[in-house]
Parts: sequence; structure tokens; C-alpha cells
Amino acid sequence: MNESIEISVGIDDTDSPKGMCTTYVMYRFVNRAMAEGFEIIGMPRLVRLNPACPFKTRGNAALGVDIRLDQNKISVLKNMLLDTIFELSEIKEKNTNPAFVIFERKNINDKLVNFSRNAVKRVVELNEALSLIKSYATFSFGFNGPRGLIGALAAAAYDFPSGYTYELIAYRVKEMRGKKRLVDPKSVFEADAATRGCTFDNVDTENGEIKITPHTPCPVLLGIRGLDVNCIKKAFDLLKIEEPVEGYMVYKTNQATDDHIINLERINDIEPLTSVSIKGNVVSLPRQIKGGHVFVEITDGFDKIRIAAYEPTRSFRKVLMSLRPGDTIQVWGSYKPRENEPPTINLEKIRIINLAQYGKLMNPVCPVCGTRMKSEGKDKGYQCPKCKYKLKNAEKVFEPEKRDIQPGFYDVPPKARRHLSKPSFLVVLKDEGKS
Ligand code: ATP
Repeated sequence: MNESIEISVGIDDTDSPKGMCTTYVMYRFVNRAMAEGFEIIGMPRLVRLNPACPFKTRGNAALGVDIRLDQNKISVLKNMLLDTIFELSEIKEKNTNPAFVIFERKNINDKLVNFSRNAVKRVVELNEALSLIKSYATFSFGFNGPRGLIGALAAAAYDFPSGYTYELIAYRVKEMRGKKRLVDPKSVFEADAATRGCTFDNVDTENGEIKITPHTPCPVLLGIRGLDVNCIKKAFDLLKIEEPVEGYMVYKTNQATDDHIINLERINDIEPLTSVSIKGNVVSLPRQIKGGHVFVEITDGFDKIRIAAYEPTRSFRKVLMSLRPGDTIQVWGSYKPRENEPPTINLEKIRIINLAQYGKLMNPVCPVCGTRMKSEGKDKGYQCPKCKYKLKNAEKVFEPEKRDIQPGFYDVPPKARRHLSKPSFLVVLKDEGKS
């Protein structure tokens, strides 16, 4: 009998703004692998890499899957990957660098895992990926250039350090791609209401929009996010879909885990092209500029940085508009330096820890009838204009202003949420034993 081996496959960078989606390449590959009798271990992985990475075109997704197969079938699998990628990728687009990599699972070591975790948080070096692949991979291939190998390696070795969620992605038949997606929005709201809690972010109630259908000409019909596979399938079954569906696959993902976030104490430590969480005190009044973007400055006691809620974050901007100097907050967001602009954190969510007290000194209120009293002149006390009651030795009293915001978490609406960004209400899934 032949000995079986376990391998991890990573695929990335197969799409372009004109079409395709790497999840579809993975879907087709997994189906072919199963038809060949290869065993899929667990679920395919949909790994979102650094959302601030300048090389991404859309959601910076990379795909991984673990497979058990006969050792002597490895070349069959390799050819299957080559065929699938050649057949489906946007190979003619020179900025598309389709790539795949195969590791034996026993060779996935800390160096590879750390590289993959880093690719979610930072911009990583191609040379590092290439040297790790040279040392530990069984086989790798990059078309149009090697850049896609970064994501392929990351997705093959990724271990979900901050937990995971699921996404069911359904695919369109070829003839429908590029056409309007025929999914009844009302049924999406109904499916959401019937599964709320175990699915999330599938609609944006504030904006009255559904979130499950993309707007690109790619093979994805829709994606449903959630925490329970049966519940996601239930939501899918409740949808009214008026076009043929080629099929679907459920992925284990790092979406909504905040895995991209680097926790920092000092503004000075923020690296460009990363996403951070940091506490600070508000030091400026909010400022809304043309276009509707809102900016506020915060300090960690040493340095200052600007935080921003851009127009698409809609009602979230009101939270920023309610901040006042002296408020203590924690912010989550990405830092992408832009020419002629001060360093700015593009916010994903905010926690108001403490509100500074604002208010003014006022004349006392009449203890008899409750009317605001009038001053009788310097050091002469106060008299009530209504009941004429007099207070001889009274002083002005401090009356705190009512703030139109409370301490707590505030999220951008689902419509403006980054794939990796964790809604503050969500508790993600964790494998036992993971930190
Ligand atoms: P998708 O449309 O599938 O969501 P995308 O189109 O936004 O993804 P890709 O097509 O996967 O992005 O292209 C991103 C490219 O950037 C890939 O070649 C990948 O290897 C590379 N890349 C991704 N993350 C990093 C990172 N953290 N550092 C350096 N390069 C990266």
C-alpha cells in the first residue's frame, strides 16, 4: 500500500479588477481534488492579508487548503493546480501574479507561521518568502513574477492566532458573470433576521443595503458570514436567488478577528502601512471638511496624531463630532502615509473610555420655586425673579454640560467595515489551546 502524506496548498493573486476571484480558483481546485479521491482536511482557508498593503487590488484575500493523498499522487496534484490556475487566472494582466505553493504539513514550522502572521499585520519582503519557500516547500510556482508567492505561502501556513469566522461563498455560472446579481434584497433582510447572532454583517440596516453581493465582474454571486456553518447554510437556503448557482463552498476565515491590529502604547511606534490600536486623549475640537470627512487630534502624552472618519463611515462621523478635548479614547485603524497630509489613522472603531467634564458657572436656582435666580450685584447675593426669594451668601454653581455621547464602543457601519475588522459586538471562534 502507498503511504499517504498531508500537504498544505496556498494560492494567491489570480484575479484582476477585470475579473476572477482566488476563492473561485480554490473552489474549482478543491472540487477537482475531491473528484480525484484526495481527502480535504478541515475547511479551506480564506485568509485576508494586510489591508494596508499597497500591492492589493481589492480585499487582499489569499487561499489555503490541507489535503491528504497518496505520496505517489503528488505530481497529479501539482498538475491539477497548474491546470486550474492556467485555466482560470487573469494571466494576461501583467499586474496579476498567480502563484501556488505546496508544503508537507510536517514542514510547516514557526518561521512559516510567523511569516504568515506578519503578512496579515505588515508589508513583508518577497525575498523572505522566497528563501522560506526554498528551504521548506515541496513545490512552488509563480506566473508573471514571484510576488503572488507571498500570499500563497501566508495562506498555506496561517494558523488563525486571533480566532476565526466562516464565510459561505456561492458562485455564478459563466454566462452570468458581469451581469446584475439576481438576489432578492428583501430575502437577504429576512434571512439576516432569521439567523442574526450566528450570522453577521450581511446587511447594513443603517443604510438599508445588503452586503452579501459584491459589485465586481467576478464569479462570486454572494458571501454569507457567520459563526456557525449550519446557521450560514440556513441563511443561504432562505435567500431568493433568481439565477443559476454553480455551487458554493464554506471557508474558515480570519475575517472579523482584528488579526491585522498591532496593539501599541506610543504613537511614535506606529509603522506606515499597518493597522493599530492605541489609547490617547483628544487634544482638538473635531473638524469636518468639504466632502464630509471628520478629523480629530489625539495625544499619548508625548506625540500627536490625527484620527479620521471618512464620508463612507456615515453616522460613525457623529461620534467623532461629539468628541471634546480631554476625552480619553482607544482607536483602531490603519496608517497609510499620504503626500501633503499629516499622519492620520483611518478609523475602524473607537472606544470612549472617559468623557471630559464640560460645563459653566451659573447663577443658582431658586430653592423655593426652581427658577434661575438673578444677581443683585457684586457680592450682594441673588433674587428669584418669580417669587422674589433672596439668597444672601450664595455663589455661582458649576453646571456640567450634558454630552451627547456615552462611554463605550462605536463601530463603523457594516458597509464601511474592513474584512478583518472585528465588530465590537462579535465574539469570534477559537480552537482549543490557541493563544
Ligand atoms: P482579492 O481580490 O482576492 O481580495 P487582491 O486582488 O486585493 O485580493 P491580490 O490579487 O491577492 O490582492 O494581490 C495582492 C498581492 O500582494 C499578492 O501578490 C500578494 O502576494 C501580495 N501581498 C499580500 N499581502 C502582502 C503583504 N503583507 N506584504 C507584501 N506583499 C503582500
